Amino acid sequence: MVTYDVVVVGLGGAGSSTVYHAARSGARTLGLEQFGPVHPHGSSHGSTRIYRTAYLEGPQYVPMVRRAQQLWFSLQEASGERIVRKTGGLMIGRPEGPTVAGAKATAAALSLEHAILSPSEVADRFPQFVLNESEVALWDPNAGVLFPETCIRVHSAGAVDAGAELHYGEAVQRWNADTEGVTVRTRAGEYRARSLVVTAGSWTAGVVADLALPLEIERQFMLWFPPTDLSTTGPERMPVFLWDRGPDEHTYGIPNFGDGVKVGSWRGKITPRPEAADREFHESDAAPIRGFVARCLRGVGARESTHTSCLYTNAPDRHFLIGRHPSHPRVVVISACSGHGFKFTSVIGEIAARLARHEEPGFDLTPFDPARFRPRPSTA
Ligand SMILES: Cc1cc2nc3c(=O)[nH]c(=O)nc-3n(C[C@H](O)[C@H](O)[C@H](O)COP(=O)(O)OP(=O)(O)OC[C@H]3O[C@@H](n4cnc5c(N)ncnc54)[C@H](O)[C@@H]3O)c2cc1C
Repeated sequence: MVTYDVVVVGLGGAGSSTVYHAARSGARTLGLEQFGPVHPHGSSHGSTRIYRTAYLEGPQYVPMVRRAQQLWFSLQEASGERIVRKTGGLMIGRPEGPTVAGAKATAAALSLEHAILSPSEVADRFPQFVLNESEVALWDPNAGVLFPETCIRVHSAGAVDAGAELHYGEAVQRWNADTEGVTVRTRAGEYRARSLVVTAGSWTAGVVADLALPLEIERQFMLWFPPTDLSTTGPERMPVFLWDRGPDEHTYGIPNFGDGVKVGSWRGKITPRPEAADREFHESDAAPIRGFVARCLRGVGARESTHTSCLYTNAPDRHFLIGRHPSHPRVVVISACSGHGFKFTSVIGEIAARLARHEEPGFDLTPFDPARFRPRPSTA
């Protein structure tokens, strides 16, 4: 049987970065992916992703956000490919709503550069956005755009250059861990490794079924609106944005990189399994986003030119899972989605590779413990 230091299950955003960091650290690395390289069936396609720093989900993310950005910019410099583009970002909503208040609390707690803009200040600086009088915007200068397909392709190629083997069209069917290592089975064969890293995105709960993870799969749509004003909708003038008008209208957007201004909603359709996701585009998917665009954006057409579906994998608390399997210390479990994980995949790969090699991860992972959803033993 072929033996490795690290086997990685899933070569999407997190897995491609994990094989990159593992192979570059000298580990004999195998990556197994059920589909082809860079595919549209999981969570990491659709041309663009937002990164931001004044993190509304909490200050615990900021050290990882900063390291992730360093890694993205170095990857861009080393590869000469378009990986990342800084545009700045606006978090828009009522001052007391979760988007603005959350970003403001993190910015204040960590003294991050930011500004609060009134509707008229936004109208002066960013005429693409129409706020109502009860809203404000938090300006995060350290925000921008990542290009996920390129990130995955460059990480995967870098891993191969550093000696990793990547097998596509090879789904992991089973694994067993013992004190010495892990045995992984696919239809094509059996592999032995010192450590296993699970970065299986929306399939994670099935791959580590013994953990009974309460992960929920949510099908989303992204829509691209053709620009009617090229001077205000490109990345040099238009920042990325998150816009919160209450629990039922939570929207984000990304400037035009040639295919239109991308707009999506944080609300989608829950599906029991990734394979069961309804990929059909319904009027009910389009109408709320078209309504938002008509009310709140200037410089784009009223109808989208194209759309695509994508999957969120949500934890009940919307925070990530990054850590060792509670019963098998040689198995590392990663689920960094809940709709906001791509920007972290550079640093998550670095952390996962360190955990797989039994090194210190370099970050406090306590808030991300994969065992936190297990029922606590009764003390009665
Ligand atoms: C519409 C949408 C918008 C988003 N916007 C943002 C954003 O703006 N900013 C941001 O930071 N994040 C955003 N996210 C979240 C981000 O994209 C995800 O957190 C990230 O892509 C998750 O990467 P992953 O590696 O966990 O999953 P994936 O990239 O889906 O990778 C998992 C891989 O594992 C493979 N796999 C699964 N099971 C097996 C198996 N048994 N054997 C072999 N291979 C297997 C799958 O085929 C897949 O390739 C968004 C997500 C969506 C859906």
